[in-house]
Amino acid sequence: MNFALSEEYKILQKMVRDFAEKEIAPIVDRVESEENIPDELLAKMAELGLNTITIPEEYGGPGMDTISFALAIMEVARVSASVAVAMSVTNMVAEGIYRFGNEEQRRKYLPKLARGEYLAGAFALTEPGAGSDAGSIRTTAVKEGNEYVINGNKVFITNGLKAGIFMVAAVTDKEKGKKGISVILVERGTPGLTIGKKEKKMGQRGSDTVELVFDNCKVPITNLLGNEGDGFKIMLADLDGGRIGIGALACGVMRACVDEMVKYSKERVQFGQPIANFQAIQWMIADSVTELEAAELLVLRAAWLKDRFLKGEGGRFTKEASIAKLFATEAANRVAYRAVQVHGGYGYIEEFPVERFYRDIRVTTIYEGTSEIQRLVIARSILEG
Ligand SMILES: Cc1cc2nc3c(=O)[nH]c(=O)nc-3n(C[C@H](O)[C@H](O)[C@H](O)COP(=O)(O)OP(=O)(O)OC[C@H]3O[C@@H](n4cnc5c(N)ncnc54)[C@H](O)[C@@H]3O)c2cc1C
Repeated sequence: MNFALSEEYKILQKMVRDFAEKEIAPIVDRVESEENIPDELLAKMAELGLNTITIPEEYGGPGMDTISFALAIMEVARVSASVAVAMSVTNMVAEGIYRFGNEEQRRKYLPKLARGEYLAGAFALTEPGAGSDAGSIRTTAVKEGNEYVINGNKVFITNGLKAGIFMVAAVTDKEKGKKGISVILVERGTPGLTIGKKEKKMGQRGSDTVELVFDNCKVPITNLLGNEGDGFKIMLADLDGGRIGIGALACGVMRACVDEMVKYSKERVQFGQPIANFQAIQWMIADSVTELEAAELLVLRAAWLKDRFLKGEGGRFTKEASIAKLFATEAANRVAYRAVQVHGGYGYIEEFPVERFYRDIRVTTIYEGTSEIQRLVIARSILEG
């Protein structure tokens, strides 16, 4: 067992850290207040390979592994959770196309995501009546000649405003329940696909979250991803990887919280001394660093297991991805709470970044499967062996 990062990982980490500090940090307030990630930033990220990290070079990606993906997300999230979630979802879509798509689909779509011709990808599963119970979706895709005709509504779709390509879960056979769900790739601008209401959110405001309306939206049958009826399995398998991304995002936000706690507690003087001298503050810092380091290890372990699984060297990593997401996101909420506490009243004021971290982190125990659903996945895996 070796806990040290290789030189390649350290180089990548530094490259992404420099990028985040130079290109994202100066505009982070604007990203949040305008509720928009500038297209130029998304294009630069594509250029650096950050939107298609694990996609092989033959399809335009940098061909790195999941550990690299997790490290990159951590660095971006340290500066902006909004940009990190946009990046994580785009990578999840690219990987969905790579893992489950045929050669024609890979060649058609992956280079566009890698080049930034598509600024983002979107993963459309949730519906008004189907969140945690994703198997109960009602959007339909009916085969008519050489086309699928899609009808229905999706809600809470990250990157919906920016995406060039949408991975859409739809029912192709009502009789078969979850086994009647398929995934269809829908290109931006396809007639019948309307981008609906954009949500006003508590945090991660720079990342867009929208409704999608499919009204007799026709796509060629060649846009089916994998086989008909495999859609539920495909979406869940892709989400296993996505959960590693959200765990990494939580680690990045935690790291930023710890940095701010340390800085502020050394500067703030009360009772004639820096508040860092008080044991109550030291314990908040110690507990936060402990949780951060545990979360990083769990996330990197899940990433390592996923890489082994993809190489055919190990089993599934579903349980470990859920454990990493569950622990990292819940720990990050505790750490953000402490970060505000250490700042006293100033922690509640917009001028101090911890106010944003506290809002940004809240959703991480909800999207890509709530904490309750992660516990269900973990318990099921243990109880069913
Ligand atoms: C900002 C944001 C971005 C998102 N991005 C996307 C996206 O890109 N694509 C996408 O498809 N979706 C996206 N979502 C949707 C997200 O994945 C869902 O909100 C989430 O899965 C929960 O579904 P729900 O909101 O319908 O809550 P519900 O499923 O209604 O859950 C409500 C409560 O009941 C609990 N609960 C439900 N079932 C059980 C159970 N069996 N046992 C115990 N407790 C249970 C839940 O844990 C939760 O506490 C996003 C959501 C948000 C807020």
